[in-house]
Amino acid sequence: MTKVYKLFSILSIVNTINVTSIDIWSCNKCCKSCRRNTDSDNGNIPNSQNGSQNTNKIPFTGDKYNNDINENSMQPNTLYNSIREEFPFHQRIALRNVGATCYMNATLQCLCNIEKLVNYFKYHRTIENYIRDNGSNTLTYSFKYLVENLWQSKGSKYIIHQCNGENSNNKYFSPTGFKEKISTMNPLFEGVQANDAKDLVTFIIMTLHEELNKIKNPNQSWNNTNINQTNHDMVLQNFIQNFRENNKSIISDLFYAMSGTYTQCSKCNEIKYNLQNYFFLIFPLEEVRKFKIQNSRSFNFKNILQNIFIHPAIFNNQLNQLNNINNSQSVNLDDCFQYYEKMEFFTGENAMYCSRCNGQFQSCYKNRLYYGPEILIIVLNRGKGIEYKVKLEFTEKIDLSNYFQLKNLGNVYNLIGVVTHIGENGASGHFIANAKSPIDGQWYTYNDDLVYKVDNFKNQIIDYAMPYILFYQKV
Ligand SMILES: [Zn+2]
Repeated sequence: MTKVYKLFSILSIVNTINVTSIDIWSCNKCCKSCRRNTDSDNGNIPNSQNGSQNTNKIPFTGDKYNNDINENSMQPNTLYNSIREEFPFHQRIALRNVGATCYMNATLQCLCNIEKLVNYFKYHRTIENYIRDNGSNTLTYSFKYLVENLWQSKGSKYIIHQCNGENSNNKYFSPTGFKEKISTMNPLFEGVQANDAKDLVTFIIMTLHEELNKIKNPNQSWNNTNINQTNHDMVLQNFIQNFRENNKSIISDLFYAMSGTYTQCSKCNEIKYNLQNYFFLIFPLEEVRKFKIQNSRSFNFKNILQNIFIHPAIFNNQLNQLNNINNSQSVNLDDCFQYYEKMEFFTGENAMYCSRCNGQFQSCYKNRLYYGPEILIIVLNRGKGIEYKVKLEFTEKIDLSNYFQLKNLGNVYNLIGVVTHIGENGASGHFIANAKSPIDGQWYTYNDDLVYKVDNFKNQIIDYAMPYILFYQKV
């Protein structure tokens, strides 16, 4: 079961802003005991502090389609185009656990710290037009409402909660409505069982893209056959162009990129390509670890043997290093990318059919990445039990120029979010988010209804966190 963990001994109190114009439901106890049943984000707004509801509509800022809302309270937002303009000091708002929803809260906090995504959902007219035309029965509606709650304009009439206990400045919001919406839209998220943050991020990205794609009835089919060395570059350009012509949304702009596979027939050396799009990469850490060990054995052992008689001391040293690698329980992101694009050989029944040779012959196969998205999502599949202990060494900045085929579309990324899993295996435990604020550049830990400033990025995130999902942003 999900449980609130106090992560770090030093609690940083978040900056306060003037919140007098925001409805705050305070309790006189502490965060752990102020569980109210009336706090819901079901899209209703209270017309007074006693919590009575007067409308089913969301009070979007600048919403001219909702006559029930006092327009004066909506005015300030129309002055801004970006969160940087509107929030010189941003009060970070946590998300309450509404029933084994730590996986959802952690995912949403990482997504809601992606500056371009938040700017679009908060200020872009397209969203309001979309909701006007399609109503509240969309994920766009619920996501917009969530963004508005986590980035509350002065004068907004959203409900947040403040605890007067030990974390007096800690404010949180209950994402009940968002949970209900995803449960309605996808049975995977029904009920109160803990779920997978990867499944949720996949669902959110695919659904928002489907809803917001400006191209209605897009042609997503693509003939992937007959791409060879001769026509590869031309087909590649056509593929990219075709994707861009059929996918025009903030989601495809930020999250989608292109990958492919490469297969070579051992008899005629003919190379065939297959092109596809991706919006996250998933690395199975235990497989990566085995691959790393196997690689180090096959490449290093020969070199080490050369020293056995000439330089016995060096030989022993190298052998120790090799043993360390063999016993290593950690891998890094380079290991993951090398695993991803490793060469595999298919023989017998598994061999690819070669149309030129008219038969199945041994073939080699590789994954390749053509370019990366603006926001690169990396999922670390940890499996269960012993496999779960593989540690990922990751860094704040990564350079993927070794792995991207198209070098001129940007290869360097900065870390902006980490969904971390705490627990002994993947089947149980607790999810928290660490996200970098787009406003002050500081890292914050979001642990359900608590939010902490991260004092030591390296200790608390790089060395400590057991990352499950990494969010990187192109520099
Ligand atoms: Zn062939």
